Amino acid sequence: MKEQQSKKAHSSGEAFFQCAAVFFPYLLPVELASISLTCITLYQIAKLVTARRISDSSRNFENVPIPFLNPIVGDSQPYPYFLYTPTQVLQMKPDLRQPWGSDNVSQMCQGGHTRPDPFLFRVEGGIGCGCVDKGGICDNCPCTECGPSCMCDFGCGNRMTQGGVSVKLKIVKDDRKGWGLYAAELIPEGKFVCEYTGELISTKESRQRQQKYDELASNGCFTPALLVVKEHFPSGNVCIRINIDATRIGNVARFINHSCDGGNLETVIVRSTGSLLSRVCFFALREIQENEEISFSYGCFRLKPNGQRCFCDTSSCTGFLPSEHT
Ligand SMILES: [Zn+2]
Ligand SMILES: [Zn+2]
Ligand SMILES: [Zn+2]
Repeated sequence: MKEQQSKKAHSSGEAFFQCAAVFFPYLLPVELASISLTCITLYQIAKLVTARRISDSSRNFENVPIPFLNPIVGDSQPYPYFLYTPTQVLQMKPDLRQPWGSDNVSQMCQGGHTRPDPFLFRVEGGIGCGCVDKGGICDNCPCTECGPSCMCDFGCGNRMTQGGVSVKLKIVKDDRKGWGLYAAELIPEGKFVCEYTGELISTKESRQRQQKYDELASNGCFTPALLVVKEHFPSGNVCIRINIDATRIGNVARFINHSCDGGNLETVIVRSTGSLLSRVCFFALREIQENEEISFSYGCFRLKPNGQRCFCDTSSCTGFLPSEHT
């Protein structure tokens, strides 16, 4: 009788730990830390989750893992917490959670490795470029890239930015700049590096958020990642403002630091046939060496709290990050 009871207790304990392994990947770092203090087994599960988070910031959404590295002595932050999206998303509820750190890949990104559609809004009845008949060669596409109206699939050579990150990158912490994106291999000139993804928000919402972010940042320990890009159409008299907020949800681009000399990335606004919205993509402006920091000029379009110091260390450094009053 006694033996039976302890057996039962043992198996229910096991079930509890199996449950823990399922829900731990959903926890915020502070929750994970406090629950790991309760017993040695939970501590070990939490440690595994943390190790998996450090090994891939992209949660398996990209073609290559993008790890975190914190070489700062005495700094115990293993990774910064955010939600990951490989493509643009619409404004989200603030309480959303996403599993991160699970050993079950299909659980981590629903549907295995399939990436979400890169196009949020489509134009009905658009005419594509017919590149399928020309063997995927798109010589007179009316767009920058093929899109939903083209008959080709994602294997088409004119969809360079739609497959996600494929160059090796890493996210490294610097004691002055905080987390930044670095090349983990040599990146040739002209190579697609990544898209700037996040929540697509209205101009009104972006102004409200910026105000809130300025307040939070003035207390320190908060790094907003709100990008505003103005897209000018060839006609010259139409300008669309694209507001992408990667503060809560975004991809690796949210870690790219500013450089006063313009950095080593080229910002390209990519239009696609049949897609209503453009996407903001980064290409290597020149050859980028392994271990070199990846940067671009926030110019007047990435909103940053006023007076935040710049540590780009270039000869053209103004000492402060650019900011825009909107
Ligand atoms: Zn096309
Ligand atoms: Zn095509
Ligand atoms: Zn600078």
